[in-house]
Amino acid sequence: MQQKNRPFELADVQMRARRLADGVFAVMASDIEETDHTATNAGFVVGDSSVLVVESLSNARLASQVIGEVSKITSLPIRFLVNTSFHGDHCFGNFAFPSDTVIVHHDATKRVIDERFEQDRSFMIGLLGANAGIEETVARSADITISASGSFDLGGKQVDIEHIGFAQTDGDLIVRVREDNIVFVGNMLQAPPPAFPWLLEGRAEEALTTYRRLHDMLDEHTVIVPGHGGAMRRADILYSIGYIEKLNGLARDARDKGLSSSQIHEALTMKEYSGYSMYDFIHFQVNVPAVLGTE
Ligand SMILES: [Zn+2]
Repeated sequence: MQQKNRPFELADVQMRARRLADGVFAVMASDIEETDHTATNAGFVVGDSSVLVVESLSNARLASQVIGEVSKITSLPIRFLVNTSFHGDHCFGNFAFPSDTVIVHHDATKRVIDERFEQDRSFMIGLLGANAGIEETVARSADITISASGSFDLGGKQVDIEHIGFAQTDGDLIVRVREDNIVFVGNMLQAPPPAFPWLLEGRAEEALTTYRRLHDMLDEHTVIVPGHGGAMRRADILYSIGYIEKLNGLARDARDKGLSSSQIHEALTMKEYSGYSMYDFIHFQVNVPAVLGTE
């Protein structure tokens, strides 16, 4: 992948905790309000007896920042660490967490990390650049796996973890704190509009079903922490749904009409979504080939 497509310079990212509710924090890039920063988000939930962290980020430096943000709030131990997918920007920092922290994955995420960590690490170095601390990362996969759902009691605070279907990977997990109406969804939702889904593994129809399910299980007051960017609301999910529905429709038409590849570029241009900084790359190089089956 070319350098111009790099979403940000990893070495510049500084993470800061933001309180969402009593004992529930998102950890986001410190300059997220001023920029359309697309650094990966983390989070943590603090109970009376222990802490659960969501995501370890791309490398030891960022993982240590997340651990540092936890220690500013509480001295309780980080008992659990959940990765919402195998994507390196969400889980490559696992090895920097204490050895007694229990890592939690969906079965499919553990399988990918156990079987093709080196391949994913090379991909992430290509995406985020050399010397960004990714070379030093060491694979650390789950101690506990979840296939459908699980609950963790942190002492007066319950966290529910669910797999509600494929959105971006087979192992997508969401992390819910129901009593506070907060959900961490990882890359299932890339970032607030104008960001739209990255169909890295195709399967647009399955992703649509999962987006609709997520929309229907939340309410208008739910605070959603996406994989990247600022917090979202339920209505924002409709933007991702609308994008895929339109893309699918245009792809169907293009196939029916037997358009040539130069006509396809024109026919599948979706100008109203071009405000997203990653539009050229993700729309034309990832999503269009994914829905046309021409990757
Ligand atoms: Zn991500």
